[in-house]
Amino acid sequence: MTRGPGPLPAAPSPPPGPPAPGPVSAALSFKDFKGKDPIWCPGCGDFGVLTAMQKAAANLELDPNRTVLATGIGCSGNITAYFRTFGIHGIHGRVLPLATGVKAANPSLTVLAAGGDGDGFGIGLGHFLHACRRNVDITYLVMDNQVYGLTKGQTSPTTPTDMHTKASPLGPLATPLNPLALALSAGATFVAQGYSGNQKELVDLIERGVRHKGFSFINVQSPCVTYNLVNTYDWFKQNVQAATHDPSDWDAAMAVANDKGRVPTGLLFQADRPTFHDMSHPLPADPGAVEPIAAAGDPAKALAASRKRFDGWLDEFRAR
Ligand code: SF4
Repeated sequence: MTRGPGPLPAAPSPPPGPPAPGPVSAALSFKDFKGKDPIWCPGCGDFGVLTAMQKAAANLELDPNRTVLATGIGCSGNITAYFRTFGIHGIHGRVLPLATGVKAANPSLTVLAAGGDGDGFGIGLGHFLHACRRNVDITYLVMDNQVYGLTKGQTSPTTPTDMHTKASPLGPLATPLNPLALALSAGATFVAQGYSGNQKELVDLIERGVRHKGFSFINVQSPCVTYNLVNTYDWFKQNVQAATHDPSDWDAAMAVANDKGRVPTGLLFQADRPTFHDMSHPLPADPGAVEPIAAAGDPAKALAASRKRFDGWLDEFRAR
């Protein structure tokens, strides 16, 4: 299996709406989703997230050629190179606009997004809230380690008030954000929290998130063993607690998200709501059109297909 626009299998004509993730013909194992060897610090929680994503992708029988992972900047953003599908390593905080654009352009793809707490809840916070309310059908994993690891341990939007780091000796001088409560408030239809030390639960959450029709937010507690010496694996062992409430109950989910006495894990909330695609009155599929991704092996064909699609949108727009 090759990464990138190598020889691609013939793609079926895109159906009118986003289908469930498409199975590939031959069974894949998580090894088929292995890319380059990670250069994270030994023991970094992001290893657990990567393995869980690879296992979930294999269990879901995702086709690597029809799966796209968009990532932001930070240690975790490097995961694009380690997870063997198509991928875009974007700029700081813009992972969700990227992923949204990919899904809007080709709803038949399985689109994943990943990044860190600094990327997603700092510079990318506005995008996070709007992705929740738009209910774009993508799965967003945040590797939350409460610190900016790539830039030597500055405090991040989720750093506890009383935590000090070498780079931020006075601490964050601010109240930490609560990503789970924010997602619930903004209208997310799938809100979950995993822990990179609990593979079984995390694999299950990712599978459920990808199957969910709409925006799936999975915050993953992913220890930074180099710069966060407070929220360690030992600390999580004492503080992680599986949620047991009914995930269709928004008030109960909000109560769990706001419980400062524990780190809840599991599915906090799930609801059905029309997706961005459902609400955006898509154009009827042109049966004669070449799908741009399928034509990517031939740049001239890809350009012509994109041009044809764009012209179709313009005609539709002018006719309104
Ligand atoms: Fe992981 Fe922290 Fe090392 Fe970055 S600095 S790779 S987050 S352990």
